[in-house]
Amino acid sequence: MPGPDQALYQLFHPQGRLGRRLPGDSAALFDWIERMAGGDHWVAHSLREHLPLWGWRLLFHMSNSGLLFRRYPAEEFDRRHGTWNSRSRNTNKAGLYDGQRHEIVVNARHWSGRILHHELGHVLDRMVSSLNTSFSTGLWHGFAPTRNGFLTDYAASHPQEYLAVCLERFLCDDSDALWLERNDPGMHAFLNALFELSSASY
Ligand SMILES: [Zn+2]
Repeated sequence: MPGPDQALYQLFHPQGRLGRRLPGDSAALFDWIERMAGGDHWVAHSLREHLPLWGWRLLFHMSNSGLLFRRYPAEEFDRRHGTWNSRSRNTNKAGLYDGQRHEIVVNARHWSGRILHHELGHVLDRMVSSLNTSFSTGLWHGFAPTRNGFLTDYAASHPQEYLAVCLERFLCDDSDALWLERNDPGMHAFLNALFELSSASY
């Protein structure tokens, strides 16, 4: 199982599998974000607002991997992804990460920063898992000894949702971040290190 330290190494260290590809600085950050919007100016505007929390190194990785964000009107979203939703245990039908197309797809009616962060959690999971074995499963087991319960029932339902929910709540809600610090210190320390390393300008 890949541990959190190994994941951080692979993502950010100049000798890591993904870290090796990182550019020297963040000068092109908004170009990388723009590319993920696939030409939809409304989406580009929203991504520029919500995504910088992730730090430029992670955003480079996401953009460099060809990830796209798409929004669909509610009816079209349901028609295209209704069955996908139930399979991916996405009960609120607001958005999903389509791993085959490497796209984050969002119901335009429910578009929000929370959904973007949640689905990006699934992208991160897949990116690190492609280097080793299941990343979120490693975190699920690795943090179990110091974890005092789960943030939500949905987080408790599956390792992939555990990572995505913790990440979404950590970024969006200070009281949830505090809950994590007290009840799941392993996950809290990992998320802190992840976003600090991604944003730092050393
Ligand atoms: Zn999810």
